[in-house]
Amino acid sequence: MSTVKAAVCHAFGEPLVVEDITLRGPQMGEIEVTLKAVAVCHSDISFAEGAWGGSLPAVYGHEAAGHVTSVGEGVVGLAEGDPVVVTLIRACGSCPSCAEGKPTICGTPYDGDKGPLTTADGGTLHQAMACGAFAEKVVVDQSQVVKISDDIPMEAASLIACGVITGVGAVVNAAQIRAGQDVVVIGAGGVGLNAIQGARIAGARRIVAVDMSEEKLEIAKEFGATDGVLATDKKPFVQAIRAMGRGADAVIVTVGAIPAYDQAPRYLAPGGKVIMVGMPHSGEKSSYEPVILAAIGQGMQGSKMGDVVIKRDIPWMVDLYQQGRLKLDELISGRWRLDQINEAIADTKTGSAKRNVIVFAD
Ligand SMILES: [Zn+2]
Ligand SMILES: [Zn+2]
Repeated sequence: MSTVKAAVCHAFGEPLVVEDITLRGPQMGEIEVTLKAVAVCHSDISFAEGAWGGSLPAVYGHEAAGHVTSVGEGVVGLAEGDPVVVTLIRACGSCPSCAEGKPTICGTPYDGDKGPLTTADGGTLHQAMACGAFAEKVVVDQSQVVKISDDIPMEAASLIACGVITGVGAVVNAAQIRAGQDVVVIGAGGVGLNAIQGARIAGARRIVAVDMSEEKLEIAKEFGATDGVLATDKKPFVQAIRAMGRGADAVIVTVGAIPAYDQAPRYLAPGGKVIMVGMPHSGEKSSYEPVILAAIGQGMQGSKMGDVVIKRDIPWMVDLYQQGRLKLDELISGRWRLDQINEAIADTKTGSAKRNVIVFAD
């Protein structure tokens, strides 16, 4: 048992409250990680605003990095002192999805109300996204954690846990882009910039960024976009196809806007596919013409968390960062203390493409 400071959501839409909570020690298969950095993700904000429901009080935060400070029984390959990335991808290892090598869609439910967190007076405290990383320490399942080399800055490492694996993985794992293919990325925000750099890493020929903002299109070029098209233009897919000389092998939709989904198949080459990453609100619907997809062999495919296998994919991403081939530091727009978390959230909501990171003192 330890007492740690955490940012707690007591009511949807209200500021988070930084207070002492109780964290029990790691049990079978679990690990305690003392955090160095946790990034603020748009999903944390959606949860805190009540967009997706869930139990309260709750601790959000799921893009984290730190050092292992305690290990439970049955933990393999991790020891105290190891630097790690902490993700929300909790995988049981034995359900049909896990058995097929798809841990991001593990079918075994997790009840965050019965997790390692309680309020200071012993009340129920929900560990959101199996993580609860807006806190000085977390206790998570070993499946959620990857050991990394000790010479990557923790702020950069924390970003890999969500936005980076989601964007890069959508291109590399879901679309399986190979050298010479053409990719369109709709939305040049946190995930979109990572899809763009994933396409560059995969050796794509043309990488067309589509966004509502000129400024974001300029940033997209720094991450590897070869062309930029304003989504506000009448037929952005016509311009994108002109830039590529043909349709795209993959269109990565990284925003949750329905018009983006409605238009996405229009960018495709015969045989190409739309990778659906951005998450519209529940109940919203998109439309497309099945006859076209059927006639020229196109596809639409959902991708959760970049279809990553974290222990396979995160170490190579760290390596590419160290070689200067994966940009992480450039994704950080601000650094904050935990007691400034509401300011960090407000700044993220202004729509900046980049990430705010909470940094914990030594
Ligand atoms: Zn996230
Ligand atoms: Zn599973």
